[in-house]
Amino acid sequence: MDFSLSEKQKMLKNVTRKFAEEFIVPAARESDEKQELDDTVFQRMKGMNFFGSCIPEEYGGAGLHNDSIGFCVVIEEIARGDAAWGITTAVHNGVVAYPIYKFGTEDQKQKFLIDLAKGNKIGAFCLTEANAGSDAGGVQLTAVKDGDEYILNGTKIFATSGGIAKTLLVVAKTGEKDSRKKMTVFIVDSNTPGYSVGVKEDKMGVRASNTSELVFQDVRVPQENILGNSGEGFKMAMKILDFGRIGIAAQCVGLGQAALEASIKYANERVQFNKPIGKFQAIQWKIADMSCAIEAARLFTYKAAYLHDTGSDFGMASAMAKLVSSEAAMQAAHSAVQIHGGYGLMKAYPVERYFRDAKMGEIYEGTSEIQRLVIAANLLRKGA
Ligand SMILES: Cc1cc2nc3c(=O)[nH]c(=O)nc-3n(C[C@H](O)[C@H](O)[C@H](O)COP(=O)(O)OP(=O)(O)OC[C@H]3O[C@@H](n4cnc5c(N)ncnc54)[C@H](O)[C@@H]3O)c2cc1C
Repeated sequence: MDFSLSEKQKMLKNVTRKFAEEFIVPAARESDEKQELDDTVFQRMKGMNFFGSCIPEEYGGAGLHNDSIGFCVVIEEIARGDAAWGITTAVHNGVVAYPIYKFGTEDQKQKFLIDLAKGNKIGAFCLTEANAGSDAGGVQLTAVKDGDEYILNGTKIFATSGGIAKTLLVVAKTGEKDSRKKMTVFIVDSNTPGYSVGVKEDKMGVRASNTSELVFQDVRVPQENILGNSGEGFKMAMKILDFGRIGIAAQCVGLGQAALEASIKYANERVQFNKPIGKFQAIQWKIADMSCAIEAARLFTYKAAYLHDTGSDFGMASAMAKLVSSEAAMQAAHSAVQIHGGYGLMKAYPVERYFRDAKMGEIYEGTSEIQRLVIAANLLRKGA
């Protein structure tokens, strides 16, 4: 077993870290306040090909489709700079661009994937509805067949990047009125008549990441825009989330790492009782615990990525990675605020933002309870 990053992965880590420190970190506080991603950073990220991280070069990507650990390293470093950019990049790549690469037809790749990979268009994954959160089987947005087209009607909520996205993966119900789980995934262009962006959410954390309601009123989508097979959308959505959770886990690792580093710096600088507070065992133990939790989370995340790339069953591993990483980030952010004392609550210090951002990780792409459910279901199915 080799725990070291390859030379290419080390290079990716260094380049992304340098980029994040130079451009993402300085813009993070203002973006959080404005609830908007910085456009200059966006253009630079496009130039770095971050929006096509896990897409092959032939479709305009950076070629990490067979190197999910490399993809994790990139997301981790982006999120270490700003978790809002971390989720934006992870969602765009993991649950929109990559599924089109993996499950799409060649025509769909030419039509949608290249622009996504180049960052010319941002993608959103639209599953959640007012009455279908953890219970994704409860989707009520309908797609009714009409000749060679489907007509979509309904409303999605909480879509990451929804308000800025030009390409949407929409999970719709295509079965009978009472049937659950008979669904289909459609690729929808935001220019299609009848589509509109509804409420933009005002959130606690990852505030710069756009989270929006999306409204579909008689939106006509050609049947060639079906991703995978008609009627198999629920299974497809679950597969998409299996990979997506690896990206979210990496985002949480990056955020946790930022909280740890801020705490170490502060513990060495802040003097109370004539000593740096890092000399007190109470503070040392917090730092040790944060470090262990984040390192464990990183290993869980890389293992899920490794299993994905080697063609193994990785669904349970990605649920474990997402669970462990989001809880490690939350624990780290909590301790980071405590170590900073009163200053930890002030906007002048980034740990205040890390704390709000970390809570999000325990909710999106399946809550911690749902990850535990997925893990237990896998174990119980396999038996002793
Ligand atoms: C910032 C943000 C970004 C998001 N981005 C996207 C996106 O891009 N696309 C998208 O489709 N969705 C997105 N979501 C939605 C997100 O995936 C859901 O919020 C999440 O799955 C939980 O659904 P819910 O909010 O309806 O909570 P509910 O499902 O109502 O859950 C409420 C509580 O009950 C618990 N619970 C529910 N069922 C069970 C059970 N069977 N066993 C034990 N506990 C249970 C939950 O864990 C939770 O604690 C985003 C959400 C947020 C906050």
